[in-house]
Amino acid sequence: ESEEGQKMQELRRSLPAYKEKEALLNAISRNQVIVVSGETGCGKTTQLPQYILESEIDAARGALCSIICTQPRRISAMSVAERVAAERGEKLGDSVGYKVRLEGIKGRDTRLLFCTTGILLRRLLLDRSLRGVTHVIVDEIHERGMNEDFLLIVLKELLPRRPELKLILMSATLNAELFSSYFGGAPTIHIPGFTYPVRSYFLENILDMTGYRLSTYNQIDNYGQEKMWKMQKQTVRKKKSQIASAAEDALEAADLRDFNPRTRDSLSCWNPDSIGFNLIENVLCHICRKERPGAVLVFMTGWDDINSLKDQLQSHPLLGDPTKVLLLACHGSMDSSEQKLIFNRSEDGIRKIVLATNMAETSITINDVVFVVDCGKAKETSYDALNNTPCLLPAWISKASARQRRGRAGRVQPGECYHLYPKSVYDAFAEYQLPELLRTPLQSLCLQIKSLQLGSISEFLSSALQPPEPLSVQNAVEYLKIIGALDDNENLTVLGRKLSVLPVEPKLGKMLILGAIFNCLDPIMTIVAGLSVRDPFLMPFDKKDLAESAKAQFSSRDNSDHLALLRAFDGWKAAERQQSGHEYCWRNFLSSQTLRAIDSLRKQFYHLLRDGGLVDNMEKCNTWSHDEHLIRAIICSGLFPGICSVVNKEKSVSLKTMEDGPVLLYSNSVNSQEPTIPYPWLVFNEKVKVNSVFLRDSTAVSDSVLLLFGGSVSRGGLDGHLKMLGGYLEFFMK
Ligand code: ADP
Ligand code: MG
Repeated sequence: ESEEGQKMQELRRSLPAYKEKEALLNAISRNQVIVVSGETGCGKTTQLPQYILESEIDAARGALCSIICTQPRRISAMSVAERVAAERGEKLGDSVGYKVRLEGIKGRDTRLLFCTTGILLRRLLLDRSLRGVTHVIVDEIHERGMNEDFLLIVLKELLPRRPELKLILMSATLNAELFSSYFGGAPTIHIPGFTYPVRSYFLENILDMTGYRLSTYNQIDNYGQEKMWKMQKQTVRKKKSQIASAAEDALEAADLRDFNPRTRDSLSCWNPDSIGFNLIENVLCHICRKERPGAVLVFMTGWDDINSLKDQLQSHPLLGDPTKVLLLACHGSMDSSEQKLIFNRSEDGIRKIVLATNMAETSITINDVVFVVDCGKAKETSYDALNNTPCLLPAWISKASARQRRGRAGRVQPGECYHLYPKSVYDAFAEYQLPELLRTPLQSLCLQIKSLQLGSISEFLSSALQPPEPLSVQNAVEYLKIIGALDDNENLTVLGRKLSVLPVEPKLGKMLILGAIFNCLDPIMTIVAGLSVRDPFLMPFDKKDLAESAKAQFSSRDNSDHLALLRAFDGWKAAERQQSGHEYCWRNFLSSQTLRAIDSLRKQFYHLLRDGGLVDNMEKCNTWSHDEHLIRAIICSGLFPGICSVVNKEKSVSLKTMEDGPVLLYSNSVNSQEPTIPYPWLVFNEKVKVNSVFLRDSTAVSDSVLLLFGGSVSRGGLDGHLKMLGGYLEFFMK
């Protein structure tokens, strides 16, 4: 055995889970369901599935067992599988494999499969009783993701029919009773962990310690992502978001007598709605000037602000100096070379700084972290059932999350955590985050319930751990009827069945199917892939204007962000063929990584559509690829009823949706660059509610396109269709 292999085995034996190995295996053999809890990093994900595999092999059942371990994120399924295979001294695809959306490595002898929760749900679609599977391990259940909650309902119903199937639920937090009682009092095993103490600093301590001053000027100048919205600046001082007013109330009630007047003064300038990049920069400098070695983990809210912050830090004299600092980003779409850098210890004298989303909270453990910087927020989808508006916005994290973030600093030695918000605001955080099932639109989920033939949607969902509001369920069912995926009796239509096998939201799936039917698949695949990966247009913090005009060049005045994306992508493909893709991206503020991801998703769409019998001849399928009217019509059909009316005023354009009233556009939308929009409607993919409602990408459409392509003609025949559209039109005419 190699030296490295031995070291890894030693490391395995040193993990807290190792001491509980026998107890865990015992409990599994005696019970159908068990719940395992333990600190992040104690060895649940990498070790427990291996213990089961090893004990099955020891009992000469190795060839018979089939263990499935689900992960909420694709990146963790991949990285954990790679790690476990390495620990076993094997190649991926031998006894250990993985499968994530449209991708995977798995061999004939694979006995332990790491997959996303979505993949297991898809497998259930093909085989309701999971024949051949011996163990199902559902990881990170404390996150209460929608898919995980859904999976638990399905498994609960399956268990009595498969008495020999074992179910193991794993959680990083102690509130395991909830899950245990859901499964009729399943035994709970806790893996005791050890972490070093972590010293916490809150905003007031940080200001006191570093002498940094928040000023109104700095805050306005430093809006982070909020700065992306052109019109927001005018409204920001007038209106405060809910998150800001809650924080200000908490701050007002706080007792700050022990702090010096300068700090108190500075605190009164704190803007809870923004993430102060300069403040982060200042804290990072403070840490980097310390003698003490150790990596820094910075919790940000998402891909956008990680990128903008990275941009800003890279031009800083100390933090941007590669001989002193190794600056890395950790997010859901990093590739494996990037991943390795994150796990590796950095060279002596170089400080590793990792900018991460909340996925570094529990599913990925970076061992050498000693300092944590916590912005206190995470991007969270929230859903207001009353006006049916899904929103994606930064929200305060829960106390449980803040504790979890802080704990990441004490893995190897006593650590330090810098919370970028006052202590009083922390005290006002909720104990736990609301489960996703209660705060997101349920359309995809309802479609899946139907395609799994699980009976009445509302009845099925009422048996969830915490059932969603009836109104949310009703809205989702209504939406599926409008787009023609369900008929009036809530039965799956032919379209619905096709949609349920496409791994994208129903509206995007519908665009793909129409693209195939109308022989213009190529551009539609690009647009759909773009909408389901992420926006390839970069908006660097300090070059916003340049980036916006770079994007505007792709619009050719046709009032569509989706067509602009299409042109940018096609231009990139052409540049790639000339080996100048990189330069092209750089010049046009495009992310080549995102474009590559879009390209590979396109290929996978094509394979799925071909397997589903929707495409036989790609060439024929592209007969109408250059017809922009048709492309626009298909976009309209997919995004309907995401529609807003356009009224051109003298100096501005006023936009209105039926649910929200007046809405605004993101400043990087090509439609916000135009003085007028010569169409009566915009269709859009996503609304974001901050202080006002903002539309992300939009495409302008005419009355006739809306009439012909909005909604589903099949529902209630042409009459019903026109009546429904009439309802929309009437509303907007008022
Ligand atoms: P848990 O699931 O309980 O949070 P894990 O099984 O993920 O714990 O991790 C156990 C240990 O293995 C941790 O110390 C972690 O840092 C280490 N580890 C996990 N994945 C990797 C990897 N890809 N490279 C290096 N170390 C890893
Ligand atoms: Mg884990």
